[in-house]
Amino acid sequence: MTGLLALTAAQQAELLRAGELSAAEAFDFWRARAEDDDLGAYLWVADSAPDDAGHLPPVAVKDLFCVEGVPSGAASRILEGYRPPYTATSVENLRRAGAPVLGKTNQDEFAMGSSNENSGYWPVRNPWDRERVPGGSSGGSAAAVAAGTAPWAIGTDTGGSIRQPASLCGIVGLKPTYGAVSRYGMIAFASSLDQCGPLTRDVTDAALLLRHLVGRDPCDSTSLDYPEEVRMPTAERLDELRFGVWGLDEEGLDPGVADVVRRTLGTIEELGGGVEEIELPSARHGLAAYYVIAPAEASANLARYDGVRYGPRSGDGDLTAMYEQTRRDGFGDEVKRRIMIGTYALSSGYYEAYYGTAQKVRTRIADEFRAAFERVDFVVTPTSPTVAFRLGERTADPLAMYLSDYFTVPMPLAGIPAVSIPAGLSDGLPVGFQIAGPAFDESRILDAAHALEKAIGFEGVPRT
Ligand code: GLN
Repeated sequence: MTGLLALTAAQQAELLRAGELSAAEAFDFWRARAEDDDLGAYLWVADSAPDDAGHLPPVAVKDLFCVEGVPSGAASRILEGYRPPYTATSVENLRRAGAPVLGKTNQDEFAMGSSNENSGYWPVRNPWDRERVPGGSSGGSAAAVAAGTAPWAIGTDTGGSIRQPASLCGIVGLKPTYGAVSRYGMIAFASSLDQCGPLTRDVTDAALLLRHLVGRDPCDSTSLDYPEEVRMPTAERLDELRFGVWGLDEEGLDPGVADVVRRTLGTIEELGGGVEEIELPSARHGLAAYYVIAPAEASANLARYDGVRYGPRSGDGDLTAMYEQTRRDGFGDEVKRRIMIGTYALSSGYYEAYYGTAQKVRTRIADEFRAAFERVDFVVTPTSPTVAFRLGERTADPLAMYLSDYFTVPMPLAGIPAVSIPAGLSDGLPVGFQIAGPAFDESRILDAAHALEKAIGFEGVPRT
């Protein structure tokens, strides 16, 4: 049975379909693996296989997805003990396709963070080096897949929270087009940016998981019919495809990361692809716009946690005192920081100067990507400016932490899809390569990523 550890989720799915592996066997194997996790990746592990386990391996689910009857709290103390009466559509879609929930993974509280150190419970360790962070906010999902305590996982990406932890843990992470996957039942951070997507061992697994996630949902009016079935990637060449490179000259880009990215551009050319530099002049203002828009939306979304509707309640004074004490006790520092920034940015008198301006930058970034995609098929960048950093290294400096998202925030601002694939090592730690494309172009992005993945031949962290 330990043989399962060597198989991708798609390979396990084949065994399940062929009847060579039973759903209960697969579930029990992965449940035991998840139970044994010692990286802090899980907040809850399922104790038995559900009756409807089917033809896909079980999936680890970021804590912010509501699952009926199962603790679901976005790793926030303010939702401790909350068990939702319903299940997120994305999770329900996977369950219907045959993938039961394996467990709930640790994350930054309300998905705010880039290191998983903002969890209300405990940080997650990176399986490549336990003194380092796995990235965030989907750090538990990424570490679990990388370490082999989950066959595959889902997370959410608002400004990079699928791609950046995937990069730091040496796995594949895909942020789909905004609207491709229902947000119903996802505990909201920034509603105009949040998207659910796969974190997997390889590109084929990402395509398989995405295929079952997408689709319009009457419960989410921003979700859309996916135009076609997501294709399984097969490409081995990149002939006639043009790749526009952005961001390689940015100061702050680690030289070791830049080397791996340059080598990957060489591989693209060997496979027949064309590489050229492109300009996205507003993308460098992406971070500034993101850190107004995301906190603004968060400040509105988090108003509902007041000690009345969900979770613990503190304070025994009057109603206002109870609200204040509950929020003081329940939210962590980063969440409070975002609520304050967001409330300020939306206050009358400052609304146009901050929120209005940030929205204009957002529109420009989307326009620049659209213009770029008239010349090139894909935009490629490093995923993260650095490899995994040490636990505690950036916690005292929020701005240093925010810079982790430099290369990943422009895509959600533009609503477009992007994947991170492991491209090599720098100082023995994984480096991610990001490929972005036009809206609803996931199949083509994954096809190109598949050709690159084959040529690169990245070996994951040894699984024991
Ligand atoms: N690290 C970014 C933030 O803290 C992105 C988080 C995310 O994508 N959820 O907001």
